[in-house]
Amino acid sequence: MAFERPHILQMHGYVPGEQVNAQSVVKLNTNENPYPPSDAVQRALDAIDISDLRRYPPATATPFREAAAAHLGVSADNIIPTNGGDELLRLVMTTFVDPMETIAVTAPTYSLYPVLAEIQNSSLIEIGLKEDWSMPDDFASKLNQVGAKLAILVNPHAPTGMCLSADYLASVASQFKGVLLVDEAYIDFVDPQLQHNAIPLIEEFQNIIFLRTMSKGYSLAGLRFGYGVGPQSLIHPMMYKTRDSYNTDHIAQKLATAALLTSVDAAKNWAKIRQSRELLAQQLKQLGIKSIPSQTNFLLCEIPESVGAQQLYEALKLRNILVRYFDQDRLRDKLRITIGTDAENAKLLQAVSELI
Ligand SMILES: *Cc1c(COP(=O)(O)O)cnc(C)c1O
Repeated sequence: MAFERPHILQMHGYVPGEQVNAQSVVKLNTNENPYPPSDAVQRALDAIDISDLRRYPPATATPFREAAAAHLGVSADNIIPTNGGDELLRLVMTTFVDPMETIAVTAPTYSLYPVLAEIQNSSLIEIGLKEDWSMPDDFASKLNQVGAKLAILVNPHAPTGMCLSADYLASVASQFKGVLLVDEAYIDFVDPQLQHNAIPLIEEFQNIIFLRTMSKGYSLAGLRFGYGVGPQSLIHPMMYKTRDSYNTDHIAQKLATAALLTSVDAAKNWAKIRQSRELLAQQLKQLGIKSIPSQTNFLLCEIPESVGAQQLYEALKLRNILVRYFDQDRLRDKLRITIGTDAENAKLLQAVSELI
């Protein structure tokens, strides 16, 4: 006898990349930051007074919202803090999409979106990226044709690492009749020379909202802290109606605030990761493994057929090196490899050169 609702009974859950703790494992499979968070985060943790945990945390996380607002040049009313970026995804669906309405994503995309849409019991439409991974023609019209209430774009894109311009996002937001959620989980790794900043679009459009996370750029995946940035028309209903009243805890708020206030420290890691990314891409290419230029902290690598992506994934795993293989259309000949420290990248390269 199953008590689950029928659509829950039928669904498969999200399968995260393997998490291991062994020091000996080179973990390049879940796009974590290889460097520790800023010292200010350690100090904020040391300063926690556990007797403060008797009380509920500040319900609206105002110090964090103010730090995030200052960081982005918006108002605190444009920010909603969440328990990881993933909670924002769920909140957006709960708040703006009825079950049986349609959510649209690209294919491929972040593999959590379809799972959340299933939980919501909404229908999901996947619109395929073109052969060169660029956006399908007339994307906004396609969204309107299928009557999508919500469209989710990950930008820079996972798993390709490509970045859409703010102008392109503006053109979609202006034509699309539903809510456009732009998932900026990897935004911190974008090359500063691109001068990419899409956040000001929240002043221009009532239907665009951005996801940010402390997990990747700020080395705090274990903390579970993210936030949404959008016009008040989108932030307000989630902030004051649909989220759990205490969705982020006292310790997480303090640490996330300390991290954002010292983003100059994190920015040094972003620069280092960008440098390592270009170097690793070059070195892999010399071994015959091509990747698309990436604006993230990972590379989507094309594995020669003679080697086989799944085979290489398994062989690396036997050597305690974890990368991500997706058993999915268009990705079965590829591996997604997170940029690690110099030492980790060297171990990866050494192993790959021996295996191919
Ligand atoms: C990591 C990630 C997130 C958010 O992760 P959290 O750890 O929940 O903040 C959202 N979208 C994409 C594409 C990601 O890779």
